[in-house]
Amino acid sequence: MNTKKITVATAWLDGCSGCHMSFLDLDQQLFDLIAQIDIVYSPLVDAKELPAMVDVGILEGSISSEDDLDKARLFRQHCKLLISLGDCAITGNVPALRNQFKLADVLNRAYYETATVQAQIPTRGVPALRVPVKPIHGEVVVDVFIPGCPPRAGAIGYVLTELLAGRVPDPSSVTRFGA
Ligand code: SF4
Repeated sequence: MNTKKITVATAWLDGCSGCHMSFLDLDQQLFDLIAQIDIVYSPLVDAKELPAMVDVGILEGSISSEDDLDKARLFRQHCKLLISLGDCAITGNVPALRNQFKLADVLNRAYYETATVQAQIPTRGVPALRVPVKPIHGEVVVDVFIPGCPPRAGAIGYVLTELLAGRVPDPSSVTRFGA
């Protein structure tokens, strides 16, 4: 097995963080992996600046806002291999449900019709929403897809283990959509 550590960056775009929680569910295997990988940027660690080049980028969630699009492009630019983690990243899944409606109707529903206090649509300090919501590969090239909502921890461990071994992983052999 290749003994060189690989650098890994992760981020969640429009997701619920469940895919990242599944990553943490690797439990004991996570300790084994940490000996072989460096997590250089992630909500899970303190480092918040994406290095110039990273071996593996992992993105959870769909592209629903301008910030999501910027982050996806940043990861594509700085990561040698980009992984879409979970059904929201791969199909749009839950966030893409709003594609069935006009954005104005969605905002009215969320911020006026169901508001009990201070009914108003926030405009400051929040990224502009995009129409339509897209999967990651709808905007940037993705190399590996790990389906599931969330993907099982074992599937994430399998992919990282294969990469460490210098092989191209085939996650379809260990997981499926909605698994
Ligand atoms: S795929 Fe499921 S677990 Fe992952 S971010 Fe989307 S809703 Fe959450």
